[in-house]
Parts: sequence; C-alpha cells; structure tokens
Amino acid sequence: MEPFIRNDHYNFIKMQAKILVNGHSSASDPGVLNALKASTQEKVLSLFESIGDEERELLASVETIKDKEEAELYLARVKKYVIPFRTVSESTIKKLFPKVKKLKQPDFEATNVHEITYLGWNDIGSERKYIIADFDGTFRGLRGSFKPNHKKGICSLCNTHSEIGLFFAETKASKDGNYTSRGNYICQDSNECNQKLTSQEKVHDFFEHLLLLK
Ligand SMILES: [Zn+2]
Repeated sequence: MEPFIRNDHYNFIKMQAKILVNGHSSASDPGVLNALKASTQEKVLSLFESIGDEERELLASVETIKDKEEAELYLARVKKYVIPFRTVSESTIKKLFPKVKKLKQPDFEATNVHEITYLGWNDIGSERKYIIADFDGTFRGLRGSFKPNHKKGICSLCNTHSEIGLFFAETKASKDGNYTSRGNYICQDSNECNQKLTSQEKVHDFFEHLLLLK
C-alpha cells in the first residue's frame, strides 16, 4: 500500500477515534454504541472518494476501537500511510519571498513532514510569520507580521482553542469573505496547528483570499 492519507485527514481520523473511545466509556446502551461505531466508520470512509480494498479495510477497522490503547495501535497503523509534505528547498523558499532581505529559514529538523498540511514558522526577531502551502504541485508563500495574543483564542486555520496571535499578511487583502485586511488570528506554533488541523481546504482558502487568487 502506498501513502494515501493527507495530514488533515489523519487528524480527522484521530478525532473520530477519540470520540469513539469516549463513547465506549460513557454509553452503555448497545444500540447507541452500534450507531456511533457505524457513523464513525462512515465519516472516516467518506473522506476518500476512490480507494482500493486494502485501504478501505484499514480505515474501516476504526469501528473496532474500544479503548485508548486500541486507538493508539490503530492510529500507528494508519499513520504509516500519511503522505509527507513535499520537500521545500531553501532556494525555493527564497524564490517565494524574493523581496525579503534577511529571510529566516524554517527549522526543518523540528518539523515532521508527515505531520503538516502547511509549512509555517516564526521569525521572532522581526515579528514575522511565514507560511507555505502546496497547491497541487505549486508552492505558494505568505509572509506577514505576527503578534502573539498572550491569551488563548480560536485559530482561523485549525479552528481549535489555542495560543494564537494576529497575523497580518503583507498583501492586498480582499474586502469580502472570511479573511479581512484587519488580520487573522492563527496559532503561534504552526507545527501544533498542523497536528490539529482537519481541513486542508481551510488553509487553501486562507491563501486564496489573502493572495486574491479567487
Ligand atoms: Zn491553528
């Protein structure tokens, strides 16, 4: 089997497995549990439009999870098939941000390419944040000012309650839509954000609005 699962899909599967474990520890009615098992399996399978029997079998076994240990074993099996983020070279990064003189490179060693949907890093000295996403083989980059919020809030990318900061992209922002020129709150730690993110579309949307691609 080749890798076929995106990072955001893996995170979604992880979330569903957790909901199922919680269900087992709180629901005693077999009917309720059976319904939860079926809906968990359906939600996981619905992420994928066309997959082979082997892939389907791997994913479908999510319904057999009863406790935390089983969830961990299942997720370890599934994780082997996560598609890594495409390699970005230092020269590609320079090309994405041609006007930046002192460009800070990401910490590649601290970033697991199997755990990211976008590559994001901070330049604390100049209070800037960099984000790179892969649009079907084309890398696009966003750079903007970033000020930590010092209190938790909802991130525009992963939609979870996290340590966030205000990201103000250095681009003409659209006046309509969800993302405004006033800036957007996103996670301070992009690697953590990536581990919670369940929708690649949200990331692409974010770029498309800020880069006026739409
Ligand atoms: Zn986030």
